[in-house]
Amino acid sequence: MIERTLVLLKPDAVKRGLMGRVISRFEDAGLKVVGSKMVLINEEFGKKHYYDIAARRGEKVLQVLLKFMTTGPVMALCLEGVNAVENVRKLVGGTEPKSALPGTIRGDFSHISFAYADAQGKAIENLIHASGNPEEAKQEIALWFTAEELHSYKTAHETHVF
Ligand code: ADP
Repeated sequence: MIERTLVLLKPDAVKRGLMGRVISRFEDAGLKVVGSKMVLINEEFGKKHYYDIAARRGEKVLQVLLKFMTTGPVMALCLEGVNAVENVRKLVGGTEPKSALPGTIRGDFSHISFAYADAQGKAIENLIHASGNPEEAKQEIALWFTAEELHSYKTAHETHVF
């Protein structure tokens, strides 16, 4: 039941100065940060991370997404907790900020629509990437972190919340 998942604070979250507030959302829910670093990725690395986007969303989306994700550093986090993959996706909210529910990170910190992003020829700037399922989480954590960059420790939540 205890899982690890990959979260990226995308360049918009970093540049808007929202890293602390976003990380607090995860910490407040009791999720444990077991890895963190800032990385400026290049297109080649972006293609490895978003290897299936062209098939799922189309080549155009892959191209605008790569452009966006290489405009500045991202903060990569590895979070651990009970059903962490599903719980993190719940806190993050839906892909399109316009329809992401209030209370979710995307719903609270953005409001743009697919149609607006498409009209601008830009990626949806929705602050966060979070692994979609446990299998994907394993692959993504291995892509972004070495074993030495991931840590094990006991939090107060493990005593009082779990
Ligand atoms: P999610 O990040 O919610 O798991 P996807 O994996 O389907 O969603 O898409 C990856 C990212 O590509 C999204 O978070 C968003 O930034 C961008 N994106 C997806 N669809 C579009 C679109 N139609 N137009 C612009 N950007 C898009």
